[in-house]
Amino acid sequence: MADSHEPLILIVSGPSGSGKSTLVRKLLELPGTMLSISATTRPPRASERDGKWYHFVSDKEFQGMVGRDEFLEFASVFGLYNYGTPKKWLDEARAQKKDLVLEIDVQGAEQVRKKVPESVAIFIVPPSREELEKRIRARGQDNNEDIARRLERARLEMEHYVDYDYVVINEDLEQAGKDVRAIALGARCRTRQNRERVQRILKSFGG
Ligand code: 5GP
Repeated sequence: MADSHEPLILIVSGPSGSGKSTLVRKLLELPGTMLSISATTRPPRASERDGKWYHFVSDKEFQGMVGRDEFLEFASVFGLYNYGTPKKWLDEARAQKKDLVLEIDVQGAEQVRKKVPESVAIFIVPPSREELEKRIRARGQDNNEDIARRLERARLEMEHYVDYDYVVINEDLEQAGKDVRAIALGARCRTRQNRERVQRILKSFGG
């Protein structure tokens, strides 16, 4: 009988502008990983297509999903919109024998770690306040007030870094990409992740 696969859950959090989404893409380049597509009540941005990074839903639909206990975690982010990780992605990852990448905020990460203590949580940190401000300005989406708000939010979020297993300081994107993949590869080799397979190998020795 083939081994069953209990997906490794890889959580990635970090403030906006830290390069988190780019690093998630780099993590997804690793064979055997797949993205958990969150449901959100936030309206799509011009560049976003439903079902690729997010499943865009109405408040009513979101509350329906909450009521049916369909979320592994959910949170109201910045008190603005709701975001949640549908449990179905865990089943999907199990069926596809893949590991599941969750790009979620610090509140969601805390909930997942309570429910699935063996999940691995990575926090992405920008190299400095100056660099983060530069990156946010380069996007050209925000006025000065928005930028000040984003920076303050970043500071508050970054205080949670201590609750994560790993921290990647995104100074150099190439290196940071290698780091997140190395973390995933290391986590795949953890004893608890391989117990079933090793037991099977041991059995093959007889005795
Ligand atoms: P954005 O609206 O800019 O795409 O995301 C805003 C924040 O929500 C980011 O920190 C992102 O990681 C977080 N987020 C995205 N999906 C989820 C989710 O399913 N659950 C939680 N708790 N946070 C999420």
